[in-house]
Amino acid sequence: MRKTIVAGNWKMNGTREANRELLSQLVAGVDVAQGVEVLVCPPAVYLDQATSLVKDTAIKVGAQNVSDQPKGAFTGEIALPMLQDLGCEYVLLGHSERRTLFAESDAQVADKFAAALDADIVPVLCVGETLEQREASQTLPVVAAQVAAVIDRVGISAMAQTVIAYEPVWAIGTGLTATPQQAQEVHAAIRAQLKKLDADVADSVSILYGGSMNAGNAAELLSEQDIDGGLVGGASLKAEDFLTICGAAAARLK
Ligand code: PEP
Repeated sequence: MRKTIVAGNWKMNGTREANRELLSQLVAGVDVAQGVEVLVCPPAVYLDQATSLVKDTAIKVGAQNVSDQPKGAFTGEIALPMLQDLGCEYVLLGHSERRTLFAESDAQVADKFAAALDADIVPVLCVGETLEQREASQTLPVVAAQVAAVIDRVGISAMAQTVIAYEPVWAIGTGLTATPQQAQEVHAAIRAQLKKLDADVADSVSILYGGSMNAGNAAELLSEQDIDGGLVGGASLKAEDFLTICGAAAARLK
């Protein structure tokens, strides 16, 4: 059965002081008994600090990106064995900011996904359409192609227990949110795409929604059948808001 997950993507934000404060509030506020997997994804330079601060708590740590290469002459890159060394359990892959600002292709994302699986780090595959694509009624084919690029690379059985985040590009950091119905339609289509290949795998993949999720809209989004949690950017930097979203996710499990 799939997990309910709330992941905070801190993007390029944080200081050691601010991280300490935020994580201490999250450690105090996350209710383990609720059964939600709570994950924070700080910038790479703070991963070590974050894993130390959440050690022996229910909060997990993920990276925002990683190389598909294990080591060597790749100046500025970070390797999966380094994430393992720090105790990171997840990695975001193919975030729209990586795809658009850093020109990451479907093929590169698929290579990173495969490498993460080999390293026993759970990949969170981010997919989503631009506003132009939505307006041209291309949302479902665009998302299906992004998902298919990874399935073609790793095979359907390797998708079991991985995470997909549907993040409409037009909703990221804009304050615009997909309606629960718009999001559910895409989540259900992703689930159906997986199910056609393997029903058990389809049921084991957590599909998160991301795109201006906040304390005010989370409950409604998270009440949809195929929305298994959230990938939260801006609102993950405020402990109170992030904890409210975690609480909204917990309601799915009741
Ligand atoms: C994100 O960065 O993945 C994201 C969803 O950002 P925001 O919540 O700020 O839209």
